[in-house]
Amino acid sequence: MKLPSIGSVGIRNRLIALVGFTMIPLAAAFALYIWTDHTQTIASAKDGVRAAAKLAAATEARIFDETRMLLETLKLVPAVLPTGGAACSSFLAEVKAANSLYNTVGVVDSAGTITCHNALRVQQKLSDLELRDRMMAPGSPAFLVGKFVIGKVSGKPTVLAASGFPKNQGGFAGAVFASLNLDSMTQDIEAVSDGGEQTVLLLEPSSNRIILHYPPLLGVPFGAPFPEHPLMTAVRRMPNGGTAEVMGIDGVGKVFGFAPLPGAKNIVLAVGKDRKTLMAPVRQRLTVSSVGLLTVLLVATFLVWWLSERMQLRPLRRLMDVATRIGAGNFGATADLERWQAPELKQFGHVLAAMANKLSIGRDAEQIVAASEARFRILAENTVDIITCADASGRRIYVSPASRAVLGYDPGELIGMRPRDLAHPDDVGVVDTMMSTVMGGQAVSGIDYRVAHRGGGYRWVEVAGKPLDDGAGTVFVMRDFTDRKMIEAQLAEANLKLERLASTDGLTGLANRRALDEQLEIEFGRAVRADSDLSFLMIDVDSFKAFNDTYGHPAGDECLRRIAAALKESLRRPGDLTARYGGEELAAVMPGTNSPGAVERAEVVRLAVRELAIPNSGSSHGIVTISVGVATLAAGAGAELRDAAWLIRSADRALYEAKANGRDKVVAASAQQA
Ligand code: GH3
Ligand code: MG
Ligand code: MG
Repeated sequence: MKLPSIGSVGIRNRLIALVGFTMIPLAAAFALYIWTDHTQTIASAKDGVRAAAKLAAATEARIFDETRMLLETLKLVPAVLPTGGAACSSFLAEVKAANSLYNTVGVVDSAGTITCHNALRVQQKLSDLELRDRMMAPGSPAFLVGKFVIGKVSGKPTVLAASGFPKNQGGFAGAVFASLNLDSMTQDIEAVSDGGEQTVLLLEPSSNRIILHYPPLLGVPFGAPFPEHPLMTAVRRMPNGGTAEVMGIDGVGKVFGFAPLPGAKNIVLAVGKDRKTLMAPVRQRLTVSSVGLLTVLLVATFLVWWLSERMQLRPLRRLMDVATRIGAGNFGATADLERWQAPELKQFGHVLAAMANKLSIGRDAEQIVAASEARFRILAENTVDIITCADASGRRIYVSPASRAVLGYDPGELIGMRPRDLAHPDDVGVVDTMMSTVMGGQAVSGIDYRVAHRGGGYRWVEVAGKPLDDGAGTVFVMRDFTDRKMIEAQLAEANLKLERLASTDGLTGLANRRALDEQLEIEFGRAVRADSDLSFLMIDVDSFKAFNDTYGHPAGDECLRRIAAALKESLRRPGDLTARYGGEELAAVMPGTNSPGAVERAEVVRLAVRELAIPNSGSSHGIVTISVGVATLAAGAGAELRDAAWLIRSADRALYEAKANGRDKVVAASAQQA
C-alpha cells in the first residue's frame, strides 16, 4: 500500500493524527502502569508463596521436632536398649498405641537388625539401610531423617526418623527409630493448600523425588522422580529456599515459593499459585483500562472529527465558496460565519469582503473604461479608413479591420510592419518623409502614395498622421482613393473624347470639322431637295508657316482666333456656318447663297482680315492675309451627280488657284470643275 503524501492529508485527518500523537504519552503511561501492575503482582505473589512455604515448612518441621523429642525420651527408658527384648517391644507397643503420629516405633542394632518393635516380633533388617549407613558415618548428628519409602510393615508411604544411642567407643551403637504416619502431614498440607487454591508439594531434592503433591495428581505415584523439572532444578539451586516462576508438575504455569524443612533439610516444601489465577485481576484491570483508553481515544477522535467539521471545514468551505463567487464576479458574496467561530477565520471573512469591495470599485472603473474603449473601437473598426497606431520605432501596434477590405491584409499581418514596407518602390521616399515628419512631432495630411495589395497590384491611399501627445508613437488614418483616382483619369480621358466629339473648336470657337462635315451633309441634302443654291468657302491663311516661325505658335494661335472672329463677323446670315477645317484652314457653309453672293461674302472676309492689319514680315504683303476658294452647288445644276465632297474639292481647287495667283485673293470655282 502506498502511503498518501503529507500534502494530501486534510485538516480533519491532521487533527485526528494530533489527537493520536497526544495519546502516545498516555498510552506509554498506561503500558508502564500495566507492566508495574504485572511485576508487582508477580512480586507480591512470590512474597506470598515464599512466606506460605516457610510457614508450612515450619509447621511440617514440628513433626520431626516432636519425633526427635520422643526418640530422645525413649532412649532414656531403661527397657529400651539396642539389644531390644520383650519388655522393650511391649513398651514400644504402648508408646505407638498412644501416638497416632507414627506407624511404627522400634530399635535397630548396629548391624541394622530390628531388635525391638511395637508390632514386629521377628527380627529383620531395617527397610532404610541407607539411614543406618548415614548414622554410622563418623560425625553424623544424633537425629536423622531418612528417605521417603513405602513402609514394609504399613505398606504406606512413610519416612523414617532415627536417633542414635550414645556411641560405643566412637562407633554406631544402634538407634531408636519411628516411621512417621504421613496422614497428619497430608492433613497439614491440605490446610496449607487452602482447599486446592494453592498447590503444595513436598520434594526431596537429593533424590529428585516428589513425596507429596496436593491436590493429588493422577498418574504421579508417590516418590516419582522429576530430575529435570524446572521446579526441581530451582529447588536444587536454592537449598535455603526461594521462589520460581515455572510450570507446575501438572503442566500449569505457576509461581512457586519453597523452603527446606528446619531440621529436615533434605525435605523441601513448595507452595505454588496458578499464574493465570494470580494474573486474573491484572488482566481484568488491563481489560478495563484498555477499554477506557480506547473509549477515550474514540470519543476524542469523534469529537475532533465533529468539531473539525463545525469549526474548521464548514467555515473554510464557506470562505472558499465566497472566494469562488467573488472570483466569478459576485462582489456582494459574504461568508456570515457564526459569532463563536475562531477570530482568525472571521478575520479572513472580513479580508475577503474588503477585497470584494475593492474589486467592485475597480470593476466599475473598468466598466467605464471598457465602455469608452468599446465606443472608440466601434469607431475605429467600423470606419472604411484604415486607422493604425505605430510605436516610437514606427512599427504598427494597432491596425483597424478596414485593412482587410482596403489592402487584403488581416490587421494581425500588418502589426509589427512599417508603412514603407508595403509602399510602392517609387513612393518609399514620400513615405519616409511623412514618417520622419510625424515622428518629429508634426501632423501631416493629404499624403498620397501607393500601397501593395495582398492580392497583387497597388492601391492609392491618402494618409493623415499625427504624433501622440506623450511622444509614445503615432496614429495614422489611411483612406483608399484608388477608385477616385481612376475616376479622375477616366474623367480626363472622357473629357478629351468629349472635346473631340463636341461640335465647337476649342481654339477658334468656330464649329469644328465634325460639325462642319455633318452640317455640310445636311445642307447639301437640303439644297438638292429644295433645289436651292449652296456655297462653300475654303479659307487658308497665307504664309502662316512663316508667321509661326517669326512670331511663335502662341501668337499664331491668337492670330487664328482673330481671323476666325473676323470670319464670324462677316458671315452673319442665319444658316451660315463658319468652321475650322483644320490647321490654319477655315471654312464656311452658306445655304441659299449663289456663286456671286458667295464671292462677294468671301471678299468681305478677305478685307476684314486685311483690316486686322496683323503684321507678317514673312509675307510679301507685310500683313496677314487670306486666300479663299469659293464653290457653289447651283440650283438645277445636276445636283444628283454631286456630293458634299465634290463641293469641298471644288473649293479647295479654287483656293489652290488663289494661292497660285499671288495670294490674298478670292477665286470661285467654275461650275464645270469636278
Ligand atoms: P501658303 O498657305 O500661303 O502657301 O503658306 P503657308 O505658310 O500658309 O503654308 P501651309 O499652308 O503649308 O502651312 C500652314 C502652316 O500653318 C503650318 C503651320 O505652321 C500653321 N498652322 C496650321 N494650323 C495652325 C494652328 O492651329 N496654329 C498656328 N499657330 N499655326 C498653325
Ligand atoms: Mg494651309
Ligand atoms: Mg497657308
